[in-house]
Amino acid sequence: MLISVVVPCYNEETVIGLTYRVLSDELRGMTDDYEMIFVNDGSKDGTLTQLKAFAESDSHVKYISFSRNFGKESAMLAGLRYASGDYTAIMDADLQHPPELLAEMLAYAQEGYDQVIAQRDRQGDKAIGTFLARTYYRLVDRLTDVELTDGIGDFRMLSRKALDALLSMNEYNRFSKGLFSWIGFKEKLIKYENRQRAAGETKWNFRSLLRYGVDGVLSFNDKPLRFCLYLGGAAIGVSVLYLLSLLLSILFEGIDLPGYFTTIFAICFFGGVQLVSIGIIGEYVGRIYYEVKRRPHYLIDESNLRDQ
Ligand code: UDP
Ligand code: MG
Repeated sequence: MLISVVVPCYNEETVIGLTYRVLSDELRGMTDDYEMIFVNDGSKDGTLTQLKAFAESDSHVKYISFSRNFGKESAMLAGLRYASGDYTAIMDADLQHPPELLAEMLAYAQEGYDQVIAQRDRQGDKAIGTFLARTYYRLVDRLTDVELTDGIGDFRMLSRKALDALLSMNEYNRFSKGLFSWIGFKEKLIKYENRQRAAGETKWNFRSLLRYGVDGVLSFNDKPLRFCLYLGGAAIGVSVLYLLSLLLSILFEGIDLPGYFTTIFAICFFGGVQLVSIGIIGEYVGRIYYEVKRRPHYLIDESNLRDQ
């Protein structure tokens, strides 16, 4: 197999037909030796019915259907595990990742680039969203060891080498932006103009974005823990200094009682510092909890890929 394209789908009935047609036209123009792996991530609409219909009439279509919604990371993982191509691309189901780029990506991949990454600009996005995203990526770059870049997502083509490296990381909490960046290899960036969804709605809301943002900072390093340590050290330093200055003033000026304000401040401030630190530790412990359970990333309900 030359090319595999993995497409995670969650409630995409309004757009999946169009995606299938555009994508297969594009691939057919490139080669005969391709497969499209659609992963139905527990959709509650007619997505699966449509996928089955495509598979019936087109042997290039493989589908995997989960027992419930496990999230895009799990859907991508499942598709990537079954991908048999020399080159494997990952694409969203809503045509925000233009299939026309695949030919160019393949050309670079064949030249020897292990990750050909498509980077979008932010044209047409809300200004506030753009600002928040930019700030976030700048912050994450500071805070963590892994390099994340704005506009770079899952849309990319991987060589067999890069794909095997990616699959060798078996962690339960998968933050693929970080994983892609962590494996390294020869990378090539190509830029494209941002697109809006062809139909349907985004699956993101404020809460899921926030969770994703925290994941980005925490999944790849223990720097936040070290930050707690420094914060604690700084707090101890300051309080020792304060204590000394108080002691000196008592020795030389005698005891003087006011201090209500400083006491309340200290209680609130250190209470906050402690809670934040415990929260950070808690996040890591929570991750360890899921990691040690070693549960599967997803459960497959049905698929036309039984034998692999
Ligand atoms: N997706 C998925 N499982 C989920 C949420 C999303 O497989 O739980 C898929 C979705 O069908 C789409 C891709 O992930 O193909 C990106 O989702 P979306 O378009 O909502 O994200 P956005 O483009 O707004 O970042
Ligand atoms: Mg989208």
